[in-house]
Amino acid sequence: MAAKLTNLLKEGMSTRDGDQSSPKMPVLFIGHGSPMNAIEENEFAAGWREAGSRLPQPAAILCISAHWQTKGTKVTAMEKPETIHDFGGFPRPLYEVQYPAPGSPDLARATRDTIRERIVELDRAWGLDHGAWTVIRRMYPEANVPVVELSLDWQMTPQQHYDLARELAPLRRKGVLIIGSGNMVHNLGMVSWEHINTPGFAFDWATEAGEAMKRYILSSDHAPLINYTAQGRAFSLAIPTPEHFLPLLYSLALREPGEPVELFNDQPIAGSLTMTSVKIG
Ligand code: ZN
Repeated sequence: MAAKLTNLLKEGMSTRDGDQSSPKMPVLFIGHGSPMNAIEENEFAAGWREAGSRLPQPAAILCISAHWQTKGTKVTAMEKPETIHDFGGFPRPLYEVQYPAPGSPDLARATRDTIRERIVELDRAWGLDHGAWTVIRRMYPEANVPVVELSLDWQMTPQQHYDLARELAPLRRKGVLIIGSGNMVHNLGMVSWEHINTPGFAFDWATEAGEAMKRYILSSDHAPLINYTAQGRAFSLAIPTPEHFLPLLYSLALREPGEPVELFNDQPIAGSLTMTSVKIG
């Protein structure tokens, strides 16, 4: 696998930009929701599995997770990233899950070198947080695809995140599946615990924001999403903090003209979250 990936990355390096003969991997945004989706059989896990089965086999995965925020931009560069159980209060079996996918120092270096406008630091201290492994283990249960994470620099503006994401585009032609993992509507402080198991329940503001987001996504009108802080009350409630929304901007920034955009797992949960996920290409 490592040799194959190295070859793909090298081939990709020598491929002219815009060469239509090289296959281009789709891009995903995944609404990850509760970490329990990693072990509970439900419609979201089924949706992730289905999405994975419809993709070409990736050489590696680059994941931008809501759960890795840093000062400066970092990319995981270890051979064997550990499974990080970065949550509290869940049943013991969730803490026992290991996802032993290899890392890819080759992809980490390729990612660093692809991004020209910012300095990207190789990281050997993080691993796979639950934004990455809870989803990816459903798509690739054999843990045979190397996974690398790219962090969210908390000092950057949404526009800067979007612009950085565009620089990742060449990786798509090197067999790399890029996954943004967050939630479009994500307000944990307003979760309706009595509706936690009522699929489809959403507060009015969550519906309003979620529907507007989907319209912008499907019409590739990204400016209002980049400028989400100027979109009024529903957006303010849907995005009280940026980290679960920003991975969406990474995925959208990678859409090239003419590429199809489709939604899946398009469900609200617990009133104040949406699991809506996006496939581009
Ligand atoms: Zn999360």
